Amino acid sequence: MYRTEALKEMKQNGKREYGVLDLFRVVAAFLVVAIHTSPLLSFTETGDFFLTRILARIAVPFFFMVSGFFVLKGENTGRAVRKFMKKTALLYGISILLYIPLNIYNHYFQMEDFFINLIKDIFFDGTFYHLWYLPAAIEGIAVAYFLLKRYGKKGALLLSMALYLIGLFGDSYYGVIKEAPVLAGFYEGLFSLSDYTRNGIFFAPVFFVLGSIWAEKLSGENGRQTISLIVPAGAMAECFLAMSAEGMLLHRFSMQRHDSMYVMLIPTMYFLFWFLLAAFRRKGNFMLRKISMLIYIIHPYMIVITRMGAKILHMEKWFIENSLFHYLAVSIESFLCALLLLELWKRWDNRNDRRKRKSGKGVQKHRPGMKGQRTGMEESQRGHERPQERAWVEVNLSNLRHNARALKAIMPEQCELMAVVKANAYGHGACLTAECLQKEGVRQFAVASLEEGIALRKHGIIGEILILGYTDIRKSRQLKKYRLVQTVIDYEYAKELNACRLHLPVHIKIDTGMHRLGIDSRHVEQISGIFQLSFLKVTGIYTHLCVADSLDKEDTEYTENQIKRFYELLDVLKVKEQQGIKVHLQSSYGLLNYPSLPCDLARIGIALYGVKSALGDETRQKPDLLPVLSLKARVGLIREIEAGESVSYGRVFRAERNSRIAILPIGYADGLPRNLSCGKGSVLIHGKKLPIVGRICMDQLAVDITGEEGIRPGDVAVLIGRDGFEEISAEELAYQADTITNELLSRLGPRLKRVPVFSDL
Ligand SMILES: *Cc1c(COP(=O)(O)O)cnc(C)c1O
Repeated sequence: MYRTEALKEMKQNGKREYGVLDLFRVVAAFLVVAIHTSPLLSFTETGDFFLTRILARIAVPFFFMVSGFFVLKGENTGRAVRKFMKKTALLYGISILLYIPLNIYNHYFQMEDFFINLIKDIFFDGTFYHLWYLPAAIEGIAVAYFLLKRYGKKGALLLSMALYLIGLFGDSYYGVIKEAPVLAGFYEGLFSLSDYTRNGIFFAPVFFVLGSIWAEKLSGENGRQTISLIVPAGAMAECFLAMSAEGMLLHRFSMQRHDSMYVMLIPTMYFLFWFLLAAFRRKGNFMLRKISMLIYIIHPYMIVITRMGAKILHMEKWFIENSLFHYLAVSIESFLCALLLLELWKRWDNRNDRRKRKSGKGVQKHRPGMKGQRTGMEESQRGHERPQERAWVEVNLSNLRHNARALKAIMPEQCELMAVVKANAYGHGACLTAECLQKEGVRQFAVASLEEGIALRKHGIIGEILILGYTDIRKSRQLKKYRLVQTVIDYEYAKELNACRLHLPVHIKIDTGMHRLGIDSRHVEQISGIFQLSFLKVTGIYTHLCVADSLDKEDTEYTENQIKRFYELLDVLKVKEQQGIKVHLQSSYGLLNYPSLPCDLARIGIALYGVKSALGDETRQKPDLLPVLSLKARVGLIREIEAGESVSYGRVFRAERNSRIAILPIGYADGLPRNLSCGKGSVLIHGKKLPIVGRICMDQLAVDITGEEGIRPGDVAVLIGRDGFEEISAEELAYQADTITNELLSRLGPRLKRVPVFSDL
C-alpha cells in the first residue's frame, strides 16, 4: 500500500528522470564505433575527419560525465566511488582476457620491452586500442573525487581544467610545444609513461567533475525549477561550431599529435548535458546502460569478424572497401552481440537465483535491472526523490540489502538471518523494510508485539514471525489467525497459553543472566515441562545476551558464561536430537563479537540498519555495513533578526550579531531529542553544517544560517545522513543527545513518511 502511495506521489511531483542519459550513451557508443571504422572515409576525407575526430570526440567525455553525474553525488560518495572503481576494474580485467586472442593475432606479445610496455598499457593505454577508457575511468574518478573532496566544486573544476590544459598540449596542440625544447622534453617524459595525454590523469577528471557539478545542481533546490532549454541549445550549437573550427584549423596546420582534446570540448560537453537534461524526460533504463557498455567493449571484435566474413564471402567490395557499409555492419553486429550477451547474462543470473533459493541459502542475490523486476518506483526513485513532505525519513533499501548480505557472510553456514523489525524496524518502517528483506530471501522476522506481527502479515510477509515480547493470553486467537510464533516468557505463561487449547507454535525464552524475560536456565524441569504441554509445539529455544557489546574482560567472561549455560541446557534437553527446534542466542553485537556460535538463527536488529548502538563501539567482526536511514526536512521560512533578539521558547538563544534564521518544520514530536537544543545539535543545508539554535519545539526548530546566502525556503535540510561531503551519522546525533542509536532511531515518529530510496547503480 505504502509503495503505491509513494509512486503516486512521485508522479504528481513530476520529478526529473535521467533516462535520456542512458539513451545518449548508446548514441555515444555508436560514435565510438565510428571512430574505429571511419564510415565516411571512402567518400570524403574531410567529412570523415569531422565525424570521427571532432563530432565523435564527445562520446568518451560523455561516458565520464554520466558516471560523474551518478557516482560523484549526494550520499555515500566515497563508497560509490570505490564501488565504481571496483566494478570498472573487474570489467577491465575481463576485457583484457577477452582480447588476448586478438593480442596474439596482432603479435602483441612479441613487442619490444614487453613488460615495461605491458605495465604502461595496463595503467594507461589499455592492452587493446579501445581499452584505455577503462583505466582512464578508474584513475579519472579517483582524481576527480580527491579534488572535489579537497578543494570543493570550484577548486576541483579549476584544477581539473589545469590538468586538461597540460594534456591539451600533448594532444591537439602538440605543434605548439614542439617549438619549445624545454617543454618538449617534459612531454617526451610524459609519453614514456603513457602514449597519450588523453588518459585518466589529464583528460578524464574534468568531465567527472562536470558530471558531479550537474548532479549537484539538480539535487539542490534549483533542480526543481525547470531548467531552460533555449540557452543550452544555442550555446551547445555555438560551442560545437567553435570546436569544429578549432579542430579543422589544428588539423589544417598539422598541429595535432592526437585528436581527442580540444579547448571547446569542455563547454560543448557542459551544454550538451544541459540540453539533454532539459529537453528530454524519460525513465532510466539499465538495459541501455549495459548495452552501450557492451557495444563499446566488443566492437573491435566485430570489426575483425566483419573483415574476415567479408573475405570469406568475397564481399570485400561491400563490407571492407565501402566504409559506410563496413560501419553499419560493425554497428549492427555489435548491437546484436550486446543483446545476446545481455540475454545470456540475464538467464545465468536468474538460474543462480533460483538455485540459491532452492538450496535454501537464505539471502539470495537480487540484482535489480538485470531481472526486469525493478518496479517503476525503484527505477525512478534512485536517489533523486523529492517528496513534498515537510519532513521525512529516507530508507536506503540498497544499503539494507547490502547489510543483509554482509551479515549473512559472517554467519556460520547453517545459520539464518532473523530480521528484527520491531519498533517500526527501528524507525525505518517495518513493512517497507520487511518487504525488501523478503525479496532478498529473508524468511525469519522478529517483532516485539502481536500488533506488529499482524501488520507484517497483512502486508504480505510470508515467513516466520516471532513475537519476542509479552502477548495477553486473551488475544491468543490472533496468534493462530495470523500464524505468529509466540515467545514463552515463563512457565506460568506457558501453562496459560496451553490452556487456550489452540495448538500454537512457540519459542521458549531462557534466562541465562539478562534477568528480563525467560525461564531461569537452571529450572530444567520447568523447561522440559513445556515440551510436554500438548497444545504447544516448541519450534525454537533462545536466550539473550546482555553484555555482548562489550569486549571488557569482565563482560566477555559474563557473556561466555551465559553462552555456556545455554548450551549446557540444550545438551540436557537433548535439543540437538530433536527435529525442528531452532536455536538462537545472538543479536547484532552477539554476532559481531561471537560470530561462530553454532545456532540456527541470529536475531539481527541494529546492525541490519547499518549503524552501531554507540559511537566508537568496537567489535571483533567488522563487516562493511552502510547506514540505511536519513532524516530530512525542508526549510520552512527564513527570517532576519537583529543582534540581541532571541529565538524560540525561554529566550535562551540571543543573537550576538544580526542573524538569518531558518525555521525547519520538525520537532521533538517527530522524535528529534529536545536536548539537542541550543547548539548541541546541527543540521546540513547545502552540504554545510549549521547549528540548531534556541530550544527545539514540539514541531519546529531554528537553525542559524547567517552568511549562507544561497539558502531558500523549500531547500532540504539533512538531520541524519549525508549532504555533499558532510555527514551527520545517527551514532553521532545519538551521542550528542546522550542516548544510543537504537533509541534515537526507534523514536522517529509516525508523522514522518518513510520514503524508499536506492543507491546502487
Ligand atoms: C531487540 C532484540 C534483538 C535485536 O537486537 P539488536 O541489538 O538490535 O540486534 C534481538 N533479540 C531480542 C530478544 C531483542 O529484544
